[in-house]
Parts: sequence; C-alpha cells; structure tokens
Amino acid sequence: MNRLSKEDLAQMNRDYFQSLDKQKLVEVAGNLHSLAVEQIEKLEQNSSNSSLPPSSDQFRSTSSSELEEKQETGSETSVSQSKQEKKEVSEESEKPKSKGFGKKLPGKQKGAKGIWRTTPLVASEIVAHHPETCASCNSLLEIDSDAKPHMGYYVLELEKLDSGIEVRCTLHHYYQATCSCGHHTKIKPQFGYVSVVEGRSRDLCLQEYGLVGPMLATFIASLAIRYRISRPKIRELLDDWVGVSLSVGTIDRCIREVGIACSPVVEELIEELQSAEIIHLDETPWYEKGKYRWLWVAITSTIAVFHIGSRRKEELLCLITSAFVGWLVTDGYGAYINYPKRQHCLAHLIRKAIALTEAVDREVADLGQWLLEELRELIHELATGDGDKDETDSNPARLYRVCRLATGVEHTKLKALAKEILADWDAVVACFYHPQLPPTNNEAERALRHAVIARRISYGTRTSEGSLAYCSVLSVIETCRLRKVDPWSYIAQVLTQARRGIKHPPIPVAS
Ligand SMILES: [Zn+2]
Repeated sequence: MNRLSKEDLAQMNRDYFQSLDKQKLVEVAGNLHSLAVEQIEKLEQNSSNSSLPPSSDQFRSTSSSELEEKQETGSETSVSQSKQEKKEVSEESEKPKSKGFGKKLPGKQKGAKGIWRTTPLVASEIVAHHPETCASCNSLLEIDSDAKPHMGYYVLELEKLDSGIEVRCTLHHYYQATCSCGHHTKIKPQFGYVSVVEGRSRDLCLQEYGLVGPMLATFIASLAIRYRISRPKIRELLDDWVGVSLSVGTIDRCIREVGIACSPVVEELIEELQSAEIIHLDETPWYEKGKYRWLWVAITSTIAVFHIGSRRKEELLCLITSAFVGWLVTDGYGAYINYPKRQHCLAHLIRKAIALTEAVDREVADLGQWLLEELRELIHELATGDGDKDETDSNPARLYRVCRLATGVEHTKLKALAKEILADWDAVVACFYHPQLPPTNNEAERALRHAVIARRISYGTRTSEGSLAYCSVLSVIETCRLRKVDPWSYIAQVLTQARRGIKHPPIPVAS
C-alpha cells in the first residue's frame, strides 16, 4: 500500500473528497486512517514499550517528512552529488580532537582544496520508476508515456560476472502519474534506518538515493573489513583497477552503511546464541579513538558475535543473557568466574606449565613437568575416552594433589598457576565429567586473530558508531563463513533492504 506523503496530503481538500464516488472515498479514508494510526503509535513509542532491539538506541526510525525535505534539497546531477561527498568529508574533519593521534584530524583539512568529479558520469542504462497505484484512492495507474521524470540520480553498481567484476552506471528516473480521481502521485526513492550520533552535524541515513549501489558498497566494506585496506587505499584501488572514482568520505559512508544495515542481523544472532549448548568466549584489547577498550567474541559452531566495550563483567550481558543455560568455554579471566557451567581453557594452563618446566630451580621444573603431564593426560583421556575410573587415583585427583603440593613451593609463577587451577577447580576438570565439552578455547582465539591483525594495522576504530559497524559486519561475515555460505551476496541483500526500510532477509543456514 502507498504511504501518503506531505505532497499527497497537500492535494487533498474538501472539494476533492466531494468529487469522489463512494468506493474511492472509502479507499482514501482507509489510507488516511492507517497514516493516523501509524503516527499515533509512533508518538506513543518509547524505549520501554517498543519491541525494537537494544541496539536501536542509536537508530531511530525515520520521520518521513524530515527525510523528504532532505531528498528535495539534494539535487539530481552527479556534479552536485560529488559536492555532497565533499561536504561529508569536511564534516568529518570537524569532529572533536582526539588524544594520541596528533593534531591533524582525519579527512579533508580545513582550507584544503576540494575535489570534485571532472568528467560527468555516463549511464549505460536508464531505469524508469513509475508509480503503480494512486497514493490517495489506491486505483491502478497507467504509465504516461509523455511524462517527464521529476527527479533522477546516477547509481554505480558492481556486477559479478563469470569472468570477473564490472561496475555499471545506471540513471534512475522517477515519474509522476495522474489518477482518474485527479490525484497526482509521485514515486520517490525509499529510505530506511537513520543512525544518530550525538554531536555530528548530519545523521547518517540509509536510503536508495545515492551514488553507490548495494553490491559496490558491500565490495568496499569487504575491502576495508575483511581485507583490511585503508580508505585512501580503497579509493586508489577503485580508481586504478575498476575505473570508479569516489571520495574517501563516500567510501567511509559505505562502510558505515553496511555496518548499520548488518546491526539488526546481529541482534538476531545474539538471540539465537542464547539457545546454544556450548559457547566459546574470549576478549582482546581494542582501541576506540585511542581509548582502551576490549573486543569480545562469542562463538559456537554456527554463530559468531563480536562486541566492542569495556572489560567489565556487565559487558558480557551484551552477548550472554540470563536466557542462556548452556556451557561456556573461557580462559581464567575474572568476569567469567561466577558462571556455574563453565570449562576453563586447558591450553592456557598448558602454556603456563610449559614455561615452568624450563625453570632453573629443579623442584619447580619437576612439579611443572608433573602438572603439564596431568593436564595433557586430561585432554588425552577425553580424546580416547579410556580414563581411570578409580576415584582415588583418577586423573583429576592426581592433578589436585600436584596443585596442592605446588602451592607450598616458594616460586611465584608455579604458585600462581596452582592457585589458578585450584580456585577454578570445577571449571578446569568440567570436561572430565562432561565429555561433550571441548577442553580448549581455540575456536574463540582463532576468531579473534583476524581482529588482532586489524588492530595492529589501523589502531582500532574512531567512534562508537564505527565500532558497532565493525563488529556487526565482522559477526555477519564470520557467521556466514562458519555456515559455509557466501557472506557478500547476503550482506548486499541486507543493505538493499535496509535502504528501503525493510527487515533483513533470514540469515542463511549452514549448507
Ligand atoms: Zn486516485
């Protein structure tokens, strides 16, 4: 059904209503009624009564009139579009200063010469958009072949061919049509999520109106996030190899758009995560605008979710809610200690024990060796399933004894390791009593490795929006990879729908 716009409403008045027959009048009343209902519900919506996911704190659904004004003021040629890009760059540079990055701000510097498109875009195809039904009375409309488009814009879109990739330029024309009832209906590009960041002069709005098509935007995001290429280098790559010139500001916008579009998908993944039987958890340092943060990962055999936040215990609630009743596999970090069903990663302990076997002190080295053997045997018995069933000389009982012995030795590291094992005893030997548990946290550590390399290259993210975008895309990519499905065509689909304000398609299941 059509959604009535400001322009549609402006055309309606008493004379128009009186001119309609009863059937059309009912249709018009129906449209006006649903608009009124929608607006009333929106007015009464707040965070406590809406079903929006928690991440929507950053996103609010668009007010249509606000957006239309934006679209109207945005003009229709490629030249002015690049002006818009230019503006974005200068806005970036007006962000508050950050410590640790020197005085120079990211993006275009104040007073620097602007860059704009020198040659106009040439479209290989024109796509016409005609209104199908009357916005007022819902009657079917006929295409007026003499009509002139009321707006248009260029779209660069990437296509995957058998022999490679190609970027095509299309011109989208939007038309108006007049109904037999006298109402003029204009079709316009649609719009979706808006991401609001406090202090930013313009909100980031996802909409169809824009130079970069969903697949090209996804390609750009893949270069940045998966292939870890910087924004200026992406600009260079696109210019040199694909013949597409985009500003760094536009490239950055694409990456954020993809992140914002993926964010509701991640909300769904987190929900799915709660019914998992076993979740691997780990965390690694991260920088957000030079601030010390932590990148968390929660991973199962089919879901991976990343999250950037503090290292506090409460941050875990963003990944594991009270609905989760399965097992956690973690390292010895304190935030996890209170969770009852848990496996302490044995690989961590083994690495520490190996270090002890090289100790100068003979007694310490021997005890370290004993500890190491007991830990290794614990894993070995799990793999072969032929552990000692004798209670007093079972593997855990021997491990317990050597730890008690080691606590009496004056060697800081040996003592610390023994205490770590004893303090978290149930979690260390959990896999012995529950053979379905993996004894190590390798999955989570492997999942973080990609991000650790990215952190070394890029020094992290710059804003909380950037962090959310980065984590969202990473989560969707990693989940698709675990399920052995192509992440990129799915993400392009998610972005296409997000720009129209439509809920994302279902996450592909493992093939
Ligand atoms: Zn009509």
